Amino acid sequence: MISFKDKVGIITGGNSGIGLASAEKFLSLGASVVITGSNLTRGQKAEKYLKEKGLSGEFIQMDVKSEKENEQLIDYVVNKYGRLDFIFANAGVLTDNIADKLEYEKWKGVLDVNLNGLFLINRAAIQYWLKNELSGAIVNCSSICSFVGQHAFPAYCASKGGIKLLTQTLAIDYASKGIRVNAVCPGYIDTPLLDGRELDKQKLTALHPIGRLGTPEEVANVVVFLASDAASFVTGASYLVDGGFTA
Ligand code: NAP
Repeated sequence: MISFKDKVGIITGGNSGIGLASAEKFLSLGASVVITGSNLTRGQKAEKYLKEKGLSGEFIQMDVKSEKENEQLIDYVVNKYGRLDFIFANAGVLTDNIADKLEYEKWKGVLDVNLNGLFLINRAAIQYWLKNELSGAIVNCSSICSFVGQHAFPAYCASKGGIKLLTQTLAIDYASKGIRVNAVCPGYIDTPLLDGRELDKQKLTALHPIGRLGTPEEVANVVVFLASDAASFVTGASYLVDGGFTA
């Protein structure tokens, strides 16, 4: 039985979708969890949602693109909760446009959140663990788009492909220090990320042999496993949660 009793973690992009479902799971297994997002209203709503379930996750408003805010976040959590055991670097955005029509600013916007922002929180957590000679676990949110290209997702696929190899590289570099780094790679999951886009959900469903889109909770189950001691020999893995999409 997995337990996170007395453990403390951070989930970026924890006020919605996969991040919020993961927060709920970690909290229900005994962890203290700080969830982040850039949208205060969504964060307060997430805190209220967790409270109604009898869970007390704390929301901190921050922008994952900021080097300073990522460092401050680690300091804040360690000062307030006394430790840091895991992070789920999950914040992400999606811009869909074929490359010849994709503005450079939009390309950079996706890379800045999905890859650069993820690097910054990974680095800040690793620096803290190294400085204090502590072990820790990182789960990065990648995607099936780190294994296969997707029509009209050039920036998103580039960012998620980058996360996969960043994860593998960090896993190699810090394994001997007791720091495990893994990625979770979801297929299409029914979350706000897909809302308001010209995506044909029926067509997308057909691409998943299981015959439906995934739920945030199904991704959260794997995130929790990868962050837990049950995964003590797992590092550098990119764990597909895709209903057979890439198979
Ligand atoms: P979501 O509900 O839209 O969640 C995205 C999260 O990222 C939100 O909490 C959002 O919070 C946060 N975020 C975005 N920009 C941010 C910034 N600059 N600073 C801080 N937080 C920021 O969508 P989701 O599907 O759960 O996405 C979570 C992760 O799963 C993403 O990395 C996504 O790429 C990945 N994923 C999703 C799918 C899917 O089909 N849904 C498939 C594969 C991978 P704010 O809005 O408050 O900033």
